[in-house]
Amino acid sequence: MNFTNEDYFKGIVLFGLNAATYKMALAQTLLKASREGKTELSWEELSTTYFDAYKARLAANSMPQQGNPNRLTKMERIIKEHELGVLTSNQAIDKVADTAFDDVVPRFQTIGSDKNIVASYFYDIEKGKKLVLKDSLLSLTEPQINTLQQEVHARWGLLEGAFSINQTNFELANNIREIYLKNGHERKALTHNIPFLSGYQGNVCFYCGEPMDDNIHVDHVLPRQVINHDEIWNLVLSHGDCNLLKSDRLVGQHFVEKLIARNENIMGSNHPWKAKIQSTLGSTPKKRASNLNMHYDNIKSVLGRYYWGGSDSYNPASDPFYRRLITALNNK
Ligand SMILES: [Zn+2]
Repeated sequence: MNFTNEDYFKGIVLFGLNAATYKMALAQTLLKASREGKTELSWEELSTTYFDAYKARLAANSMPQQGNPNRLTKMERIIKEHELGVLTSNQAIDKVADTAFDDVVPRFQTIGSDKNIVASYFYDIEKGKKLVLKDSLLSLTEPQINTLQQEVHARWGLLEGAFSINQTNFELANNIREIYLKNGHERKALTHNIPFLSGYQGNVCFYCGEPMDDNIHVDHVLPRQVINHDEIWNLVLSHGDCNLLKSDRLVGQHFVEKLIARNENIMGSNHPWKAKIQSTLGSTPKKRASNLNMHYDNIKSVLGRYYWGGSDSYNPASDPFYRRLITALNNK
């Protein structure tokens, strides 16, 4: 391969996996060290520069640094604690040194999900002590470093933009949450619904399509933490592991369509739940579909693009790796 050192660094910045913005701050830290010709970066220098990178970033334009609207990253918390005077600069930097690098330092040197492409290409790690910087990093020229800095800034901005889509309208989200809270009720035991629901699902999991095992969970398709009720129109059966992996995240529209079809099957029966669904979702298939979609849109307003699997097209049933994973977990 005709990859230059600059290419490798760019590959990490552009194609590294990013659940948060940590790699961007580390990239910036490494480029600074390269510019200064350092052969080693002590843990303290690493922590200080990394802390400064986030401090500057969040002061200039405070945007979310990861995708879950309910959480802050470690670094956002540390910067906030520092701003509030809970931590002095030194205490904040110590906290960075102790807690911020477990994932990002070992994982930085990867492209995509392949950990072997660049391995220890730019530095070796002496955990808690120092990074030993290699010629591959130190031989970058001034113009290359400038270009890479720009790439890092652009990519960092793109990530923040993607993460902030989740958090567009706090006020609307709060209002929707309040409506569901007012109309909601305490969680009830749901296991008595299993025999009934399994009649409409065959013996397979609603999400992954693999056969059920003994550990059957009743799952709320639209997350209960927002919808705040246990109406049967929102309940399906899933593997315990699928329930756990989906957690309180949003599913794609395709699962909403599947749920609508399932509910219409119930409407075609004479089960007592039929009247209940009719009274909560509407008297015609069209009304029921549009009401269920309305609830789905409400949940999206609250949770943003916080999708299971990262996107609205994600379908574990058509993800061979996911199905293998579930089968393995079920056969443990
Ligand atoms: Zn499953």
